[in-house]
Amino acid sequence: MNVHARLAAAALILASIAACSPEAEKTADPTAAAPAAENADIHAFRIGALEAAALRDGEIRLANKAGESPWSDTAAARAVLTEAGQSGDSISLSVQPLLVRDGERVVLIDTGAGGRMGTQNRLVASLRAAGVDPTMVTDVLISHAHGDHVGGLVGADGSLTFPRAAVRISAPEWEYMKAGAARAGETALLTAVTPRVQPFAPGAQVTPSIKAVALAGHTPGHTGYEIASGTDRLLYVGDALHSSVISVQRPDWVNAWDTDGAAGVATRQGLLERGAAAGARIYGVHFPFPGLGRFQRRDDGFVWVPETTGQP
Ligand SMILES: [Zn+2]
Repeated sequence: MNVHARLAAAALILASIAACSPEAEKTADPTAAAPAAENADIHAFRIGALEAAALRDGEIRLANKAGESPWSDTAAARAVLTEAGQSGDSISLSVQPLLVRDGERVVLIDTGAGGRMGTQNRLVASLRAAGVDPTMVTDVLISHAHGDHVGGLVGADGSLTFPRAAVRISAPEWEYMKAGAARAGETALLTAVTPRVQPFAPGAQVTPSIKAVALAGHTPGHTGYEIASGTDRLLYVGDALHSSVISVQRPDWVNAWDTDGAAGVATRQGLLERGAAAGARIYGVHFPFPGLGRFQRRDDGFVWVPETTGQP
C-alpha cells in the first residue's frame, strides 16, 4: 500500500485499521530501538508539579500533491512551506503521544498508529525508555478515533497494548468510532477495546488534573485535553492542527481530513487567537518532536514557536 492509499485510509474513521499496511507491520518492531535512540525518542518535562513526557511513535510523511495532502491548493502550500525553510515537496507529521503522571494515575494521551500509515511503531519502546511498562498505564485518553491515534491500542496480534488501562473517549466520538467500524466491516479493534472503554461527556474532568476540551471540526467528538497543575497549564490540541507551518500560518485553509471543514477552521482560529493572547503552552501531537511550544502573533497571522528542539 502506498503512502497515498494509507493517508486516504487514515481520513476514514478506522479504515486505516481495516487496511493496516502489511509491509509496515512486518518492518515495525516495537522493541527494536537501541538505548541511544530511545533517549532521542522521549522528552521529559514538567507541567507544574506533574511529570510528563513526549513519546515518539514515528512520522507520517506525505507528498504535497492532490489526493495525498489535505490542503487542496498545493502551489500555495509549497510557497508557505518554502518560506518557512522547509521542502515544498512533502509534508512531515510527527506522531508523539503524551505521557502524564497524575498522582497515582499513569495517563497516556493517544496511542500512536501501531505501525500503520508508514510509521515506525516506536511508542511502546519510548514508553519503556520513560520508565513505564505498558501494564502500568491506568488511563488512555483518546483525542479521536483515527488510526494514528487509536491504532496503538492493540498490538500486531490484536491483544490490548495497555491491558489494565481504562480507555477514555468522549461519548460522541465513541458513537462515531463504533459506527465507523461497523461501516468499514472492521470490528477486531473495537471488540478488543470495548470492555475497557469508559466514555465521558464533552468537557468532563477526566482525571484529577486533566480536563477534556471539545475541539469541534476534525471528527464529531474530537477532544483536546487541558492538563493543569497549580498555575501551569498545557493544552493538548489533538488534530485541530496538523502542520506547525500550514495549520498555524493558514488556519483558514479547509483541511480535507476534517469531517466539518468550517468548524475545523473556526476551532483553529480560536485556538490560535486565544493561545497567542494568553501565551498558552501548547502540545501538538503532529508538530515537530517533541511538539511543545506556543503560538505567537506575527504580521497578520501566527507562527509556531517551539519550546525546545527535544534533543537530549
Ligand atoms: Zn492525527
